[in-house]
Amino acid sequence: MKQLIAFDLDGTLAESKQPLQDPMGEALADLLGVAHVAVISGGDWPQFQKQVASRLPARADLSKLWLMPTTGTKLYTYRDGAWNSVYAELFDDATKAKILKAFDESLEATGFKPEQTWGERIEDRGSQITFSALGQEAPVKEKEHWDPKFEKRKVIQADLKQRLPGLSINMGGATSIDITQEGVDKAYGLKKLRDESGIPLDSMMFIGDAIFPGGNDYPAKELGLDTVRVRDPEETISVVTAIVACQK
Ligand SMILES: [Mg+2]
Repeated sequence: MKQLIAFDLDGTLAESKQPLQDPMGEALADLLGVAHVAVISGGDWPQFQKQVASRLPARADLSKLWLMPTTGTKLYTYRDGAWNSVYAELFDDATKAKILKAFDESLEATGFKPEQTWGERIEDRGSQITFSALGQEAPVKEKEHWDPKFEKRKVIQADLKQRLPGLSINMGGATSIDITQEGVDKAYGLKKLRDESGIPLDSMMFIGDAIFPGGNDYPAKELGLDTVRVRDPEETISVVTAIVACQK
């Protein structure tokens, strides 16, 4: 019997960046009646609050819900009527300053310093720094044109790797580059969850839409968890319904 069911968020529990739909909230409330539930995603806590925490019905047993933003480098649990941060692995100020300096130098060195930017270019998520080349408020149209084939970012990424040894540098959305500690992926997050919850990995199960080589859910499978790959949130509801029926 599984004690804990872990989920990816975007594309699995909800459409990208969208709140959970009501039927998903109800399905998760049913699941919390028979098992622990975890959600692990690259988004930060405000995104989790908007998409998940605020979308569950009142009957949901939140004491069994484990929310893991920024790929498990943060953990939130519900105690005494509120969501609390259990831990957060943050970059220290010196590392943060080093990252920001490296970005400036890298853009100069590669010649990919954009002529115009919109809003802040650096988003500090504590344990992850996200660099948006054109700024966070750049119009979608501008973003689409800047680097559709990842050509510019591949060059910037290679340059940054030289400047920031020991850090993981990955291309994210349309114009962004994410920087985290090396080795942070969903397998890392799930091991942290095992340590915090005391639930062994073979009593966990993982459900996600990107369980294939190169997909950001694949590390869960490589870690040896039983996994179920879903196409979309609708399929997730079917899987959850089956699990609830088997566990009760
Ligand atoms: Mg996904």
